[in-house]
Formats: sequence, structure tokens, C-alpha cells
Amino acid sequence: MAKSLLIEKALVVSPGQAPFHGWVSVAGNRIDAVGSEQAPAAPDFERVIDAQGAPLIPGLINAHAHSQSTLTRGSAEGLPLDEWLPIIFEEMRRLTDEQAYCAALLTYAEALLSGTTCIMDMCQRPQAAARAAEALGIRAVLAPYLADSMAFAPSLEENEALIRSINGRDGRVRVWVGIAGMVSSSPAQLEQALDLARRHGVGFHTHCAETMPEIERSRALTGRTPVARLDELSALGPDTVLAHCVWLSDDDRDILAARGVHIVHCPQSNLKLGSGIAPTPDYLQRGINVALGTDGAKANNRLDLFDTMKFASLVPKGLARDPRVLSSNEVFAMATSNGARALGLDCGRISPGAKADLVLLRGNALNLQPVLPQNILPNVVHAAHGGDADCVIVDGRVVVEGGKLLTIDQAELAARVRAAAEILQAR
Ligand SMILES: [Zn+2]
Repeated sequence: MAKSLLIEKALVVSPGQAPFHGWVSVAGNRIDAVGSEQAPAAPDFERVIDAQGAPLIPGLINAHAHSQSTLTRGSAEGLPLDEWLPIIFEEMRRLTDEQAYCAALLTYAEALLSGTTCIMDMCQRPQAAARAAEALGIRAVLAPYLADSMAFAPSLEENEALIRSINGRDGRVRVWVGIAGMVSSSPAQLEQALDLARRHGVGFHTHCAETMPEIERSRALTGRTPVARLDELSALGPDTVLAHCVWLSDDDRDILAARGVHIVHCPQSNLKLGSGIAPTPDYLQRGINVALGTDGAKANNRLDLFDTMKFASLVPKGLARDPRVLSSNEVFAMATSNGARALGLDCGRISPGAKADLVLLRGNALNLQPVLPQNILPNVVHAAHGGDADCVIVDGRVVVEGGKLLTIDQAELAARVRAAAEILQAR
């Protein structure tokens, strides 16, 4: 039987490995073989892509985003988190199914076009998000935005129904349990959410230790930090993914390392909202797995993980006044293999057996020159941008070619998004 795809004459760039000129073959939705010598014969494949020396990377993994917030990108600017959240909640209260669907299409389209093949979406209308992910061909993990203090938020019952209807299919879309935060859910909902995740063997995702006022509130209410409180509820383990973790005490860090919890670092959101800077080099040194996220488009405002990699690399260097802090390979791993590990997915690397989520960058992009094995890794982290993504493959299927989405009409999408956003933003 013919194998699906051969990518030959590529500069293969995978985390933890020296880049090399070679080829990658895909059978079905997985990488079948990788080599640096003579590529297999072209007639054995349904399709052959001649990369002409262009860099081939694993698809990037955005481990924390909110699709609904893309529709109001560029509004409520210049506010700290505590003043910004009520505006977000009011928009979420008014969000319709059509608006949620448009926002998810836009979010996933922007992700795919900028080389992100997998996204963790903490979304308010997960059914609409699931439909959008199916339509566009992205890999998605959906964590409904549970918060029983807000009438508009999805319920535990909806979350469970989605897990039952979607997770059994072994497709690109998975559903987790997500709670917005420790304050927006009652203690009872928090315990029920954790129980739901355990019963179905799915991951648990929440925001944690994002701002100093959040820590102070938690201490005043419970006498504990958010991490200590989650630990008390037995919420922390290798299936737990915490977004932000800007403000962790020494004890908090020990707990997360001991429990094998994953952190999603969202440097641009934390800077833009004035929340602070997460000490990621220390987390990594303690053995905590750190992935990268853009957070919602309202807090960034761009969903380009190349951009996020650059912030994640440069900010700690400047803070430490030491350019040796965080190697390019460590940062590249945060956006690829660490993200896959956090989300429990078999992707984020170019090796046989991994899911075929791959991005071919433009080999002739002047901002990437010189494209050579010895230069490419620091340039993927610091010189590349989302617009360099030329061909994007998810689950063995080409979804972006020549920098254009094959699964949706981009001009139609832009018009539909503007119409939906105008209605949502009208007062
Ligand atoms: Zn968030």
C-alpha cells in the first residue's frame, strides 16, 4: 500500500536533536520514518513534497488560549486583570453560539496559518469550538470554562456530556475538565470537577497564581496559596496543567515538581496585563515541565507562538542579565515537546511513531537566512514569525499550503468575523 506523504530535501529541526538535512515519510496520521541518507523512492508515495532545503519543524503547540476572546481583540486595553475580567465576563454573558463559532474559526485559522497545529482552548461554548476545530483541521484540547459563580458558564453536566460524545472518537479533538479559577468556582464545583476528570481519565486545566492580588485573596480566604489549596484537594498530578504560575512560593514550586504538574507560561499576557514575569528558568531547573501559551487574543494580541518563543527566551535573559539563561533548544522544546507532554499527546517531535503534525517554513524567507543546520535553531526561536509557515500538516493532512488555508475561505471568514464582532461589541 502506498504511504501518504514524503517530504524530501528538508532541514529537519526537532527538539533535543541537532538539525540535519533529510526526509520524513508519513503513513496515515503518523510519521513513519525519518532519515538523513537517500530518501525512499517517490513512486511509493501518494504525494511528494520537495522542501528544497527549507526548515521542517514539529507543529507548534499553544497550551493555553481562549477562542472567545479573539472576537474582541483590541478592546479593553490598558487595564490590570482585576478591572479587565469584569469586561470579559460581560462579553461572555452576551456571547451567542454563532459568535463563539466565528471566534473559534478565527482563532484556529490564525493558529494554523502561523504554524500552530495544536491548541488548548479554555472556551465558553465548547460545542461551537469543537465544530470549528473539526472544520478547520486543527488538533484541539477543549477545557470548558467552568465557573458556577457565573450563570453563563458551561455546567459540569455539559462538560461530562462532551467528554462522552467527543473523546470516544479517537480524533483530533479531545475534551478535558477546565475551571476558570479557584475563586470563580464554589468549593463544591471544584471538587465535582476534579471527580469528573478522575472518573473519565482526562486532564484538568485551570488558571493559577496569575497575579499577586490573587495570592493575597487566596491567603485571606483559605490561609493558603492557590497551589497549596489545590494540593489539599488532591488536584495536582501529571494530568494537571496550570496556566500562568507567575507568583509561586518556594513551597509551591516544590509541590508542583513533586506532583509532576505542568505549567503553561504565557509571557505576553502576563506582561501586557502587568501581572508579572514567571521565573521559568527556576521551574525548569526544578524539573517542572513548562509549555507555552498565547492566552486569549485580548491579552496578547497575537496568537503567534513564534512571537511567544521570542518573549519566553529574551525576558529571562534580560532579567538575569545573562544571555546563557534558557538555550534556544529549551525554548523550542517549550513550544513543541513540552506542550505535547503537558497535553498528553503523541506529537511535538519529528520521530517515527509520532502524530504527523509538521510545519514546513519558507526556505527562501530572507529573515531566516542563512538557512543552515548550525544556524537554524536560534533563528526559529528569534528570527521566524508565523508568516513564515508555508505548509502545515495536522494528523497527516495538509491544511495550509503556500501560506493559505485549504479548509476555509479566508476572505469569507474575515467578513463573517467582523459581522459577529460588531454585534457582540454593540452596546
Ligand atoms: Zn487564560
